[in-house]
Amino acid sequence: MKIKNYINGEFVNSISNNWLDNYNPSLGEVYGEIPNSDSKDVEKAYQAAVKAFSKWSNTTLEERSIILSNIANLILEKLDDLASAESKDNGKPVSLAMQVDIPRAASNFQFFANAITQFASESHESVGLDAVNFTLRQPLGVVGCISPWNLPLYLFTWKIAPAIAAGNCVVAKPSEVTPMTAFLLGKICNEAGLPNGVLNIVHGLGTTTGQAIVEHPYIKAISFTGGTKTGAHIARIAAPMFKKLSLELGGKNPNIIFSDCDYNKMLETTVRSSFANQGQICLCGSRILVEESIFEKFKKDFVQKVSQLKVGNPSEKSTDIGALVSQQHLEKVKSYIDIAEQEGGKILYGGNRVEVMNCKNGYYLQPTIIEVSNNNCKLNQEEIFGPVVTIMSFKTDEEALWLANDVKYGLSSTIWTNNLNRTMQFSKQLQTGIVWVNTWMLRDLRTPFGGAKESGVGREGGLEALCFFTEPKNVCIKYN
Ligand code: NAD
Repeated sequence: MKIKNYINGEFVNSISNNWLDNYNPSLGEVYGEIPNSDSKDVEKAYQAAVKAFSKWSNTTLEERSIILSNIANLILEKLDDLASAESKDNGKPVSLAMQVDIPRAASNFQFFANAITQFASESHESVGLDAVNFTLRQPLGVVGCISPWNLPLYLFTWKIAPAIAAGNCVVAKPSEVTPMTAFLLGKICNEAGLPNGVLNIVHGLGTTTGQAIVEHPYIKAISFTGGTKTGAHIARIAAPMFKKLSLELGGKNPNIIFSDCDYNKMLETTVRSSFANQGQICLCGSRILVEESIFEKFKKDFVQKVSQLKVGNPSEKSTDIGALVSQQHLEKVKSYIDIAEQEGGKILYGGNRVEVMNCKNGYYLQPTIIEVSNNNCKLNQEEIFGPVVTIMSFKTDEEALWLANDVKYGLSSTIWTNNLNRTMQFSKQLQTGIVWVNTWMLRDLRTPFGGAKESGVGREGGLEALCFFTEPKNVCIKYN
């Protein structure tokens, strides 16, 4: 299976005709090839985008909204095919792709199809000066969207939908590790009537294709989701060119559990927030902090529940935990488990690779729970991004808050409590972009999404995304 670049509405090879292998992680086998694009391909995509811009930015909001809705509907029509493609490419259980990834990709388009028709700008009357100001919000031009492998179509469309809804044209790059559903999206865009050149998808490595997008002098903004180190590198390149940047980066999120919570609901959700998508969600609660009075009970119940999760072939509906995305990532995650003892940690469950029947070369790992007693260890400070959580007890609210904030990351946090004062105190003092209380990953697409500290700069979602993808211009009119 040869994936192609999608440029000006056509499916084309890279100019160099070089290719990269694409793996099926559940089997540990190559099953296709993707173009190994370079700056020449990015330039070609840019030229298509800039040519499409003046017409696209002048379409009526209704026209844009209809096309975005068409894309959303087609994604839903092709739910089965897209979900199985995502599962094969990424290793995630097909049931998760059916329930979460693909429906959410459709919602991203439908949400911004609606949002753009309601996007209003401000006006300010300068009282006493006989002047009135209004804010024109114009699209930026050609923008770059770069996304990671963990939620491939979900995060790719989360950027593209608001960018094109606001009237921009896009040069986009999915992760080279999971290119398949982005390729299929190109076909859907053609079928939905998206004019040629509005969206261009260039496949290839981050350090060549991705970097060429960031370095392009006329690509005005970069919306990037990925690792913190890559984000810092991109910021260094983009800053001297004064590009607009939205950086959604790594996390090391605390899941803080108080004894007064709804215990069963907490336990069930904590299994999910720890291990959904093999723990490869930037929002996973990878540091579980438990109030001392329920610590022993929680440990016992949590281990028991986690031991029931089925690690298996992602294409089987009964699988809870599929394959990790790549051999390289599996080795990285395993290297953290290997230092657990050295760091004073105790493995309460898991820690080993799993051999799945008929998939013996796949990248499977047991869900792993490690008890730690010190926050100042790699296991609690570095993002592992796999099916590995640490657990630790705390005695007081102050200690819980201190532990929660004692990391360089600040993406999300979860608190389990029924105490309203505590909820408010923690909501105000947690240094994260998102705070969930008695729930996890409940998303309303109107809300601002993003991280504090080294988890990112800027916010996506709702109005924030439409503001990011437009330039505000103040028009001041004096009258007599
Ligand atoms: P990554 O940083 O390696 O790659 C992300 C994307 O950037 C890929 O498309 C990659 O090809 C590209 N890239 C790599 N180097 C580049 C460069 N020099 N210039 C331009 N583009 C480049 O991240 P990953 O391993 O694909 O994803 C995992 C990371 O993503 C984790 O740290 C995770 O927390 C983070 N993430 C964050 C969020 C969020 O919303 N904050 C969501 C999902 C994942």
